[in-house]
Amino acid sequence: MPELPEIVALEQFLAEHAVGAVVGRIDVAALSVLKTFDPPVTALSGRDVTGVGHWGKHLGLDCDGLWLITHLSRAGWLRWIDEPGAAPPKPGKGPLALRVHLFTPEGATPAFDLTEAGTKKRLAVWIVADPLSVPSIARLGPDAMAVSETEFAELLHGTSQRVKNALTDQTVLAGIGNAYSDEILHTAKLSPFANASTLDAEQLARLFSAMRATLSDAIERSVGEDAARLKAEKRSGMRVHGRTGETCPVCGDTVREVAYADKSFQYCPTCQTGGKILADRRMSRLLK
Ligand SMILES: [Zn+2]
Repeated sequence: MPELPEIVALEQFLAEHAVGAVVGRIDVAALSVLKTFDPPVTALSGRDVTGVGHWGKHLGLDCDGLWLITHLSRAGWLRWIDEPGAAPPKPGKGPLALRVHLFTPEGATPAFDLTEAGTKKRLAVWIVADPLSVPSIARLGPDAMAVSETEFAELLHGTSQRVKNALTDQTVLAGIGNAYSDEILHTAKLSPFANASTLDAEQLARLFSAMRATLSDAIERSVGEDAARLKAEKRSGMRVHGRTGETCPVCGDTVREVAYADKSFQYCPTCQTGGKILADRRMSRLLK
């Protein structure tokens, strides 16, 4: 799933490639992605692309006062196409959800696709005049890269969730998902199961600087990359996330995971939990 660094990179990519173009035809291949109906998606056609924006993990294209906003969700992505075919894609076939054709001032006719792999369809698109009218944007906490250390401490102390859940709760802090929260907690040497409200000042300071460093490193690596290369770039920077059974690059211990029905997270026992192996509910069930 794209998180803040990939969304910022996609936003920059669209700023360079789409801003200044005129919106052409929009092909809707999966009607279920459209969460708004008035104005219709056709209202974008003929408008100039004047800007871009992001709100947490939402990405937006400003079409002269009318926004196309998307939340790519877990399996969604943006794909840029220099020369799309003229024929509209067949609805309901393959990962394509929505294609936006563009006319550039140089006379090129590229397009971008919003795609979603897998069978769980969660990618969402809104056409709105005011981004804050998107309910999931209105509920967002402050942007993870915009909060001050004081504000960050207050936000975490205001929730009694486990720190892993607090970091990924978009109403607390916007932009961090499962992957970067694993990396941030590993860098901060904190257990994912620690209670956010009882972290002391020194732990909070460590967590804040780990968050800033992890996200800004990832943004630096991602911005300027082609949309197509971003996923590989994200994975290559991960030290523990998605690396169950591999060696922790800091201490040499084996990276462990806690798995749930539909997701899992990773951590290093030596670096983060004083060597303690966290209960993996899936494993415990299998061993019963
Ligand atoms: Zn380690």
